[in-house]
Amino acid sequence: MPLGPDTVGRKLLWSIGLPGLVVALLGVGHFWRESRVAVQDATQVESLALAEFVASTFSLPQAPRARAHEAVAEVLRSDTRLFRSVEDVRVLTPDGRIRWSRRPEEVGRVHDEARRLTSPGPETARSSAGVTEVVRPMGGGPECGSCHTEEEVPGASVLQMRMTEPALHQQLSEMFRGALGAMVLFIVLLALLTTLGLHLNLTRPLRKLSAAMGRAEAGDLLVRADARGTDELARLGAAFNQMLARLTAMKAEEIDTHRDLAVVKEKLALKDELEERLRELSLLFDVARSLNATLELDELLEAVTRLVVERLQIPDFSTMLLNTEGLLEVKHAWPEGRGAEGLTFGLGEGACGRAAETLKAVYLPDLEDRTSIFARRGLVEGAVDTGALLAVPMVHMGTLLGVMNFQRPEVASFSAGEIELLTAVADLAATAVKNARLHAETVKLTMTDPLTGVPNRRHLFQRMELELARAQRFGTPLALLMVDVDHFKRLNDVAGHRVGDETLRRVCDVLRLRVRKVDTLARYGGEEFVLLLPQSTKADAVEVAEKLRRAVADLVSLSQPGLPGNHVTVSVGVAHFPTDATTQEELVDCADSALYCSKRSGRNRTTPFEPGMEMHPGRERGPHAPATEGTAVTTTAPGGVAKA
Ligand code: GH3
Ligand code: MG
Ligand code: MG
Repeated sequence: MPLGPDTVGRKLLWSIGLPGLVVALLGVGHFWRESRVAVQDATQVESLALAEFVASTFSLPQAPRARAHEAVAEVLRSDTRLFRSVEDVRVLTPDGRIRWSRRPEEVGRVHDEARRLTSPGPETARSSAGVTEVVRPMGGGPECGSCHTEEEVPGASVLQMRMTEPALHQQLSEMFRGALGAMVLFIVLLALLTTLGLHLNLTRPLRKLSAAMGRAEAGDLLVRADARGTDELARLGAAFNQMLARLTAMKAEEIDTHRDLAVVKEKLALKDELEERLRELSLLFDVARSLNATLELDELLEAVTRLVVERLQIPDFSTMLLNTEGLLEVKHAWPEGRGAEGLTFGLGEGACGRAAETLKAVYLPDLEDRTSIFARRGLVEGAVDTGALLAVPMVHMGTLLGVMNFQRPEVASFSAGEIELLTAVADLAATAVKNARLHAETVKLTMTDPLTGVPNRRHLFQRMELELARAQRFGTPLALLMVDVDHFKRLNDVAGHRVGDETLRRVCDVLRLRVRKVDTLARYGGEEFVLLLPQSTKADAVEVAEKLRRAVADLVSLSQPGLPGNHVTVSVGVAHFPTDATTQEELVDCADSALYCSKRSGRNRTTPFEPGMEMHPGRERGPHAPATEGTAVTTTAPGGVAKA
């Protein structure tokens, strides 16, 4: 049967067929029972009639001495249709003895059911198990009196007749059996036809519709149900197709929407990435701007630290620079005050040393990971290092300048993008450090005399301005000594310029080694030097000048044949603030005048400025110059302090 389990067809078949079967069986049963009752009734009537007939036969006048009841027996023996169903016919005496029977051998016996049969009562007919029994009382008169005397038949006898169901009943049974078989066949045929009909008209279309729905459910929206015809299923199929068409349209819209959404998402991701890049660029721009804002190394390192800590949220940071001994020295560290500054690490030592050695960033995602190949010495003695560390080398044009250490307390807290960014920051910082160093070197060069290594005239004037401003502000004295090598031209001429240069260096060394740290020694020009002595009285300054002059004169290595006294000597002029002058120019002029005085007095001597002193011929007249072209005369012999 094509109907599977739980199909609508099967359910319908059961819901129609089962009640039909039950009704048919009930109907057949009812008619069967009714027909049996009718047959029994008919049989009883027939039995009664036959009993009447038999009884009346006994009343027929018999020939004298004729064998009793021969005629009855004869009738019963004949195979007439009427008696074919009669099984037993007996006549019982009131005491239950069989007086006459169809079967002669029974005559004279007492019947088994004598009591029931001979009990007085009207004529009865009873049917059971296909047998009908009639018990009819026989009066002693007409039925028996024709043959028997009163003595022979005392009391009333009873006629018992038993007969099986007549042919009618058997025919009826057969008919019913046939009807039942026909009905079963009919029901089977009906079930088959119904099944076929249900299959063709309901199950199969429904299955097709169900399959179409299943495919649609699986995502095939192009599938269509069979919508031919006008019945409900066709309309259902049409409605389903319509729904699918709408779904297809909706799906198409959904696909479009998804595509749009994907595009928007992509754009958003791009926007996020661009924003991230913009943030990074902005940060790098800020870093570059901050780093370019100063050429002072200390300020620079401080700016880097501030940016890293504030903008990149890195709470632990240090910058190490390669010192002259080739070690990485901590120059700046955050948090401050841990005493990390000044610590040194060798190349290859720890993560920073490794980064410096390989010129590549070293990332330790978990400092507590003891399997790390980098043994690490913490910046702070005794502190427990946890979290992640990134050491990035500061490289400029392939040259290592230092290492930047970024540390966070969280494990694996540096992303690949961030490492890239911090590498860029380190590159920028390296360039800035290089620039700062170049600048410092350049400044040093522009401020230093290359021959002697002491500050040059430019540095001298800057320093003088500063010292004078300080002296004016705090009301402290300031002395200026102008020192000139005597007969230097002659020295050049006699010994050559190389010796002249060497002599200048030696004189400079003598001066440098004998002044205080707070004093400034500068080469003013040619063979002239200037000394600034802050917080010195004029007398102290003269004393210092004399000490220096004597030191030059006494230095054995400065003995030089061809010079007066065969020795290099210097002359010194001393000016004092605020005693002699209050401005820078005046102070220089006064010292120059005093020096000129020393020269005129014979050289190798010290002259403190005094008002009215003659100006150097090559200079403009200053405020302290005498009213007339004076004649400042030195009264001391060479090698002392001149008096104007
Ligand atoms: P005075 O005793 O009056 O100072 O005489 P002087 O010869 O020292 O002074 P003058 O001004 O006549 O000559 C200075 C000389 O110093 C002239 C110049 O050639 C020389 N000179 C200047 N700078 C240098 C230098 O750097 N090296 C050498 N070797 N000579 C220099
Ligand atoms: Mg000179
Ligand atoms: Mg000179």
